Amino acid sequence: MRLYSSLSRQIEEVKPLDGQTVKIYSCGPTVYRYIHIGNFRSFMLGDLIRRILRFEGQDSRLVMNITDVGHMTDDLRDTGLDKMELAQSDEGLSAMQIAEKYTEAFLKDGDAVGIGRADLYPRATEHIPEMIEITKRLVEKGHAYVVDGTVYFEVRTFPDYGKLSGNTLEALQAGHRQDVEVDPNKRSREDFGLWKKAGAHRVLKWPSPWGDGFPGWHIECSAMSMKHLGERFDVHTGGNDNKFPHHEDEIAQSEAAVGHSVVSVWVHGGFLRLSGQKIAKSAKNVVLVPEIVERGLDPLAFRLVCFGTRYRSEMDFSWEAFEAANTRLTGLRQRMADWSESPAVATRGEMAEDLDRRFRDAVADDMDMPAALVVLNEAVSSPAVGPAEKYRLLSSWDGVLGLDLERLARERYEAPPEVLELIRRRDEARAARDFGTADRIRDQLGAMGLEVMDTPAGTRVRPRL
Ligand SMILES: [Zn+2]
Repeated sequence: MRLYSSLSRQIEEVKPLDGQTVKIYSCGPTVYRYIHIGNFRSFMLGDLIRRILRFEGQDSRLVMNITDVGHMTDDLRDTGLDKMELAQSDEGLSAMQIAEKYTEAFLKDGDAVGIGRADLYPRATEHIPEMIEITKRLVEKGHAYVVDGTVYFEVRTFPDYGKLSGNTLEALQAGHRQDVEVDPNKRSREDFGLWKKAGAHRVLKWPSPWGDGFPGWHIECSAMSMKHLGERFDVHTGGNDNKFPHHEDEIAQSEAAVGHSVVSVWVHGGFLRLSGQKIAKSAKNVVLVPEIVERGLDPLAFRLVCFGTRYRSEMDFSWEAFEAANTRLTGLRQRMADWSESPAVATRGEMAEDLDRRFRDAVADDMDMPAALVVLNEAVSSPAVGPAEKYRLLSSWDGVLGLDLERLARERYEAPPEVLELIRRRDEARAARDFGTADRIRDQLGAMGLEVMDTPAGTRVRPRL
């Protein structure tokens, strides 16, 4: 597949550096409140890339961090308050309880909108030694300096600073000049904190060579991405709002520490707007996943809403569009249920081949989901493609779309007790990681004319077409 790289500003082929596994790092949530659907539009990217790679037969590994310390309310200055600590004082829970509560909610809401779980969710608080290590290295190499227990990255020592966001040092300095508060300890206004001295009332703090303190937000992603994916990896995703300062600073820290470029392709997703405004807590227009369910809508329809617009573009959200997508999704599932009862055909027609090729081209072309939906619509209505072929096409494409298109087709088949018993035993075997037994039971079910599918809810079967 090909992706637009925000850094090179070009379309680039995604090829695993190690020749085997595409390594993807996605900037994850700061877990001090519920995550809204605008964020979920960005969080979808890593999983969508992985789905497309899998569709192409390419292995990948997806790592998404959980920020449970160090994300300040004002990232441009170092005088902000830590978001975790603020939530703690608001809710009467400890910072750890806050992190637990909102991590769980994030994972559950992500499941609901069909975002496959990452292979790993490293927590910032579990990687403090790695962050200290990089910070030490930056000090030793002359890229960082210490003033009164706080370590700053010295931006002027990294001439490439600004290459991602396009911010030149001059523009940055001019922008910062308007700031009212300036940290007098900084050599230059654009320098940013790697490690911050803990104030008297600070609860989340750790010992370090510079005294008790806590890490900056950006250093967390440098430390965790390189620890879990290596000092060179393939894809890094995030929202457009992560470009500056978060990713610009991550690039400066990581590259200055290791002395070479780390990420091959940077991918950034556009904002979701509601009534013309970016969805954000500050705009008071936040929509949460449970609200979708409360309105009687299927959260997976959110995917269909998102796929109507290229991921890099800003997109308007409306409940009208959501309802239309919901109706469309139910319609697709009903058709799938109808088609599932058609007798199988041995070979695929020319038209079906052509549609499949076009769908693959669309998703491989920088995740052109609107184009993929056009192909899907053609497949649904084409008289030249038989019902069994349509079923097969859509069920294969659903690996990328994640719309659970076979839901009604599955429900239409009522498994007899002996099949249910086999399913139960197979799920048990899989839970015990006894894949030999699981495979044998799958073969047994296959011999009974059933197709066996592994879903997040366990083994599902339906009559083979
Ligand atoms: Zn990040």
